[in-house]
Amino acid sequence: MKELNLEEYIIYLKKYRPFILQHLEYCFILAKTLKLDFIRNSIVTNSRFRTNQKVDLNQSVQYVQQFLKKIDKSWADNFSKMLQQKNCYISFLNQCKENDSRSFVIWNPQKNQIEIHLSLHQDVSDGKILIHEFMHYENVNTHLSDSMLSEFFSFWIENQYLQHYKDLDMNWFQSEKQNRYYNIMVMSSICSDVFLLLLSNQKYGDTTYSHCQEIASSFDFSLDKEYFESSKRFIEFCLNHPKRFSEVDVTEAFNYVYSFVAYLLVKHKKVMDVQNVVQINKKVREADSVQKKVTLLQIDSEIWDLSFIQSCFKEEIKSYRKQKSR
Ligand SMILES: [Zn+2]
Repeated sequence: MKELNLEEYIIYLKKYRPFILQHLEYCFILAKTLKLDFIRNSIVTNSRFRTNQKVDLNQSVQYVQQFLKKIDKSWADNFSKMLQQKNCYISFLNQCKENDSRSFVIWNPQKNQIEIHLSLHQDVSDGKILIHEFMHYENVNTHLSDSMLSEFFSFWIENQYLQHYKDLDMNWFQSEKQNRYYNIMVMSSICSDVFLLLLSNQKYGDTTYSHCQEIASSFDFSLDKEYFESSKRFIEFCLNHPKRFSEVDVTEAFNYVYSFVAYLLVKHKKVMDVQNVVQINKKVREADSVQKKVTLLQIDSEIWDLSFIQSCFKEEIKSYRKQKSR
């Protein structure tokens, strides 16, 4: 195996995710705090459970429709509109290649359009995917300016949906909740190690245990030597085999920064009733600055660094506005 060479990864980050490099300390603290939080609450079991409750697409669409109607009729209407869009691509997992297995909503600046990609299983889990992506679709404007805020609403509605339909498959429902937490914990763990290596590389030009430990302890975190070495080998492996190990592709680690923030928001927020969230979502979408959006969400400044969020999406905001003004 090749020696750990962060240079290629840094070139990649500089090109595509410069805000990660500019806010390494913040990313590290966020991931590390989250990891400790999970350990404290001992949500550390993985219970991957695939449902065998077959549900066809029409039925899943109906489940989502019925659920959305209860919350807000305009959401139910917009959900139908989303599915009828010509840029809404639906594929079924048994028919497509491994790398087509993601669902996402993006603004494509080259084509000046919103694209919806839905990768479904034709079982009870499809409703969850549909409603999560629908929320991104609803918030695509917000999403472009600050993905992290949008992820919160997608997480939130997904939770509500799972709760509402839990009787469809109780075992699956429970494992799904567990898994969400488990995945975030695993990723926060990997990400915090990646961020630490990058910090050490930035400060000392190497990634030795003693330098990494020095940095970790300056943030009041401790670093076990054995754990550190094995984690480093794992990251080496991921960086050298990005395709073979796509499930934990560290080049995509930045994506999880959004999930961390969304998770923390869901966890730290007081229980909110449905209408309250609908109203907040509308206001957040209309607010014309990130500062206002953050205030509306009553986000705790301890878990939130405003300058970080603002810098993340500058490029995307620019490209979106440019397209809109044409
Ligand atoms: Zn999402």
